[in-house]
Amino acid sequence: MELKEIYEHKRIVQVGGYSHISPKISFEIFPPKDGNISNLFDDIRLLKKYNPVLISLTYGAGGKTQEFSLEILKMLIDLEYTVMPHFTCVSLSREQVAKHIIDIENLGIENILALRGDIPEGMNVSMFDFHYANELVDFIHQKTTLSIGVAGYPECHIESDNIYNDIENLKRKVDAGASAIFTQLFFDNDKFYRYVDLVRKAGIELPIISGIMPVRSLKHVKNMVNMTHVEIPQKLTEQLEKFPDDALKIGIEFATNQCHDLLDNGVDGLHFFTLNHSDQVSEILDNILF
Ligand code: FAD
Repeated sequence: MELKEIYEHKRIVQVGGYSHISPKISFEIFPPKDGNISNLFDDIRLLKKYNPVLISLTYGAGGKTQEFSLEILKMLIDLEYTVMPHFTCVSLSREQVAKHIIDIENLGIENILALRGDIPEGMNVSMFDFHYANELVDFIHQKTTLSIGVAGYPECHIESDNIYNDIENLKRKVDAGASAIFTQLFFDNDKFYRYVDLVRKAGIELPIISGIMPVRSLKHVKNMVNMTHVEIPQKLTEQLEKFPDDALKIGIEFATNQCHDLLDNGVDGLHFFTLNHSDQVSEILDNILF
């Protein structure tokens, strides 16, 4: 199913004798570094009962990872999941990008998350065929019928001076043919609501799917901050410092509250960064859905 259809279509479910609109749940997984796909699929099977609207697969440049990725995508399709492979174009030629997106389309896939990717150290955008993700969106839109998701940053992308410029650049991706916005993870819902407000004021009406990352440990949280530059609420850090052995439980509790609040505020969808573990995500979903 295409992104537009997924997020426009309302799914009615019965819980406890009442019918209500089911939240749009999706999962992000990544190709395991050790290539152990069967472990990954054991976990994915456990998540099937939550009826995800799609599963996205991250993209990492590099030969072996790419091979696993195609295998994983084929297996997900066989299991009748809607899939959305991520794709980063930075440092690829137009020919390489064209080949990749046509390969994706030939697998029968309907969606793609179009990203520029991080600029490799010591390089700058002017060295590449594709400079920013809007050019990739435009290219995919011209060459395929794929439905295109793009990234959004409630706490502003690191390369942007301010959130207003960042949203102006988001608009370029939307105007080039994007169908949905998947956000970077965040822990402060107020920042997300402010972002949605600014995005809507910029005239962007696409669904904005919030990125949820259950915290696994203090070390994990610190790595995330380094990678994504998002802020961690002090209370969460303090709890993890005080009760390191309860980190998984703390992560579940925090994300459960976060999701409850997002759903109460009518979020378009919840996209869980599973980190290839179903344990925490299952508990969070049991808390919010049943
Ligand atoms: P862009 O939209 O091009 O934005 C990059 C920066 O350039 C922003 O600061 C933007 O404001 C600015 N900009 C955009 N257009 C212009 C313009 N025309 N002129 C001037 N400035 C401009 N990375 C991976 O390697 N693999 C993954 O699988 C992956 N998955 C991700 C999934 C999600 C949901 C998110 C939020 C991020 C993901 N990333 C992934 C990280 C992403 O590749 C990086 O954040 C990257 O630095 C930016 O990619 P982008 O597509 O957002 O770039």
